[in-house]
Amino acid sequence: MELRLYNTLTREKEIFKPIKDGEAGIYTCGPTVYLYAHLGNMRTYIFEDVLVRALKFFGFSVKRVMNITDVGHLVSDADDGEDKMEVGARREGKSAWDIAGFYTEAFFKDYKALNCLMPDTLCPATEYIKEMIDLVLALEKKGFTYRIGDGVYFDTSKLPDYGKLAGKSHIEGIKEGARVEANAEKRSPCDFALWKFSRPEEKRQMEWASPWGRGFPGWHLECSAMAMKRLGETIDIHCGGEDHVAIHHTNEIAQSEAATGKPFARFWLHGRFLVMGGSGKMAKSAGGFLTLATVKEKGYDPLAYRYFCFSAHYRKQLEFSWESVDAAAKNLDALRAAVNRLKEEAGKKPAAQAGPAIAEFHEQFRAALADDLNAPQALAVLWGALRSACGAAEKLAFALEADKVLGLDLDRAPAQETLPPELLALVEQRQQARKNKDFKKSDELRKALLEKGVAVEDTPSGPKWKLVK
Ligand code: AMP
Ligand code: ZN
Repeated sequence: MELRLYNTLTREKEIFKPIKDGEAGIYTCGPTVYLYAHLGNMRTYIFEDVLVRALKFFGFSVKRVMNITDVGHLVSDADDGEDKMEVGARREGKSAWDIAGFYTEAFFKDYKALNCLMPDTLCPATEYIKEMIDLVLALEKKGFTYRIGDGVYFDTSKLPDYGKLAGKSHIEGIKEGARVEANAEKRSPCDFALWKFSRPEEKRQMEWASPWGRGFPGWHLECSAMAMKRLGETIDIHCGGEDHVAIHHTNEIAQSEAATGKPFARFWLHGRFLVMGGSGKMAKSAGGFLTLATVKEKGYDPLAYRYFCFSAHYRKQLEFSWESVDAAAKNLDALRAAVNRLKEEAGKKPAAQAGPAIAEFHEQFRAALADDLNAPQALAVLWGALRSACGAAEKLAFALEADKVLGLDLDRAPAQETLPPELLALVEQRQQARKNKDFKKSDELRKALLEKGVAVEDTPSGPKWKLVK
């Protein structure tokens, strides 16, 4: 069974085959380190982590590069406004370098708490200024740049397939929707800054000499320069959140392909956003946003948030609610309790030969991942296996194997009182019956649960159960 991934570029699920046999090179856009990462950002990193783990599960070795944006990401996508790093520095009365250091460390603390595997190479943008200048020089030589008052820009009209990632109509939309006050010297609203000049009246904390004068790199430039330096001119997979399709990744493709004449990345994967009920996406610039610290303050294991992320496929929008995180925490606990019971049982009985039934679950799990990383389906297969009549040792082995991809620390002791999966299934069936207004069935199930020592009570946030004997 081969791994198929949805490629934003071709708008199709394609069988993944790396350029180098058996070795997948991945570049994932990393955090802009001027503030804490929010739970939406972490959803994207969890999706990318599942991608990395799934590639390993399918037998590929993985070389993953992530950048750290510590300069040049401006407040506005239209290449104006202040550098986010300078905004952070002013807000906290620290240097931009200290801000970068502090929020990089904070980011990886959350990243690791969510069981995301560390990238093989981390590239802070400020350490690749020379590579970025070299890339602009290459583009200049090929006639893709022009210089205006505030910087050196990429001329998108020179690249016939500019915008192919997002689609022509999308790019037309950007042109039409461009604000009138946007940089009037730009030849097209789609053109973007490669190198910005420091303004003479203001002293920037982060600036470098260049053939065009003192300044700093445009945000998109770092990813092209670092990805090509670390992974080669054509890379296997490039990913990020859905917001990157129209501008950031579109511009990465433009400047990389204009410079090399080769395809920049073969697979483009994008995770859809985590949204806050009704109010739209969760964004750093929007002020009120939730971080992993809030999850922990409320007493939840960070991995409950990871489990919650598996409630939707990565290409579906996911709505955040504390009720859902709470339900995820309970389910995670129940999974861990089941795995712990299996450990005890498996220790008592001699291990049976793995039967055909468990092999079927292994196959289904693989099929779920092979179908564009369907984590919700993979999780459902795991639950199905645990509820099945397969032997304890084989169920345990399967759960631990599945956890290599899910990364939920399933062999950890559960934190709270938990229900065995078969009883949890009855609670879920009862909830379903209530939803279908089949109150006769829901009452029968309530009685059946009570006979097994579980009292169910309906609350505004859904049914709550407790053990009564
Ligand atoms: P940033 O630190 O803003 O550059 O974003 C880091 C990553 O998080 C990028 O891949 C973004 O596309 C992604 N991202 C930003 N907001 C959200 C959101 N609400 N939900 C999911 N991913 C997001
Ligand atoms: Zn990037």
